[in-house]
Amino acid sequence: MPSQYLNYVGGEWLASRSGRTFPNINPANTDEVVGEFQASGPDDVAAAFATAKRAQPAWAAVPAPRRGEYLFKAAEILERQLTAVATDMTREEGKTLPEAAGEVKRAINIFRYFGGEGSRLFSYQIPSERENVFCFTLRKPLGVVALITPWNFPIAIPAWKLAPALVAGNTVVIKPASLAPLSALRLIEALEQAGLPAGVVNYVTGSGGAIGDAMLEDASVKAVSFTGSCAVGDSLYEKATRRRLRVQLEMGGKNPTVVLADANLDVAAATLVNAAFFSTGQKCTACSRAIVERAIYEPLVDKLVARTRALKIGNGLEPGIDMGPAVDQSQLDTDLEYIAIAQREGAQLLCGGKRLTGGSYDKGFFVEPTIFGGVTPAMRIAQEEVFGPVLALQVAEDFDEAMGLANGVRFGLSAAIISNDISRVHQFINRIEAGLITVNLPTAGVEYQLPFGGTKESSFGMREQGPAALDFYTETSTVYLKHTV
Ligand code: NAP
Repeated sequence: MPSQYLNYVGGEWLASRSGRTFPNINPANTDEVVGEFQASGPDDVAAAFATAKRAQPAWAAVPAPRRGEYLFKAAEILERQLTAVATDMTREEGKTLPEAAGEVKRAINIFRYFGGEGSRLFSYQIPSERENVFCFTLRKPLGVVALITPWNFPIAIPAWKLAPALVAGNTVVIKPASLAPLSALRLIEALEQAGLPAGVVNYVTGSGGAIGDAMLEDASVKAVSFTGSCAVGDSLYEKATRRRLRVQLEMGGKNPTVVLADANLDVAAATLVNAAFFSTGQKCTACSRAIVERAIYEPLVDKLVARTRALKIGNGLEPGIDMGPAVDQSQLDTDLEYIAIAQREGAQLLCGGKRLTGGSYDKGFFVEPTIFGGVTPAMRIAQEEVFGPVLALQVAEDFDEAMGLANGVRFGLSAAIISNDISRVHQFINRIEAGLITVNLPTAGVEYQLPFGGTKESSFGMREQGPAALDFYTETSTVYLKHTV
């Protein structure tokens, strides 16, 4: 019998009112049901918001450094369970165990970082023009916030939304992705064990289509932070802004790596393989386009293809595996569909291109890491997010053409350049339309203590992570205080 997991509302573990559940399936072995989760409905969501609303004033009255202490304690609890939590993550999402362990460690670091923010919560003191007037700003919590998270970073993303929201004095209702709800539940358990007061954090599972509207329409919700696809993000934006809710959206990418002629080709190939194929290309910051100066195109292709063919693909719980499966049948179908589209549109298949079958592969959603050469800007593979292990190579005659290709998409999340030409690198940093810029590093692999977010259609609203995260979860009041005696 698979384990049954419950919602967490008002400090209690509860079944959905309908009693319905849905299964969480291991994408590397579809015979394994990781757990049964609550298929909640709008009434479950309403109960969660009601309890969050009741708990908020008392939580806001807890001094911020003490709010931070709950995060420190939860981080300690998670640290003791790191391997078990990471193993569950690999079972539900498919990423390799070392990748999952790194992500759990990141969630722990995020809790510690924002726990420390409880002792800072910096605001400004600014001189007044008038005598005996003292002016300063004050950060106040928003109230109740709704968090909606995706499956690809199933513990880090919930952590980087929950931690700043809580330390700032908000109460929360979080809905994790239905494909990977267990990792977020582990965070909630750690907060419960840390003694967080009842009602401060509430966790409700269920299909976004069934309960998303209820989360946005509840009268108590003041803000929504969403990470996921552009299609869902765009529809949330319309609903949230109609109600004048504060909204933060982190969505898709088509992240380029520009490789200039002076690049060290081994560094370039290793960086591209890491950025394009680790986590099965299922990172919003994964590199899906390499834009390469013609002079080094052929030798780079040789190195890239050799490294890619050497990757070991399989169940991420096994040692030595470099790349796990696609997260589900639908994502596998999308990967294969884009591979077929690229071939129909005339791109040159350099390696990969097929679903992996035979033996244990038949039980999972495994696809070969795939590289296409000769990709032109009009091809869909150059413009649309696949969210799988598919890399498109584009040739540029010079730096200016490379910049045009890199910026010629609707997304602007992350971008990399591989070069030691300092003046070109500076020009790249200035001209690239991306919220995250890396030099001689993969497009993915960002750190929690720095602001995170994109430009163009990748993101909307304030940055997440780092000190910037608190801006979204706090309201600023400006105070003018005159001494009259
Ligand atoms: P998704 O399908 O948009 O789902 C994201 C979340 O939204 C899930 O919890 C989902 O619930 C929920 N949802 C679905 N329909 C909804 C609705 N009508 N109302 C409210 N919520 C709804 O995205 P995904 O497939 O999980 O994640 C992949 C996408 O996320 C990619 O595009 C990737 O680039 C993006 N992403 C972006 C970042 C970033 O920081 N920029 C980071 C990670 C991922 P269900 O699971 O129940 O459908």
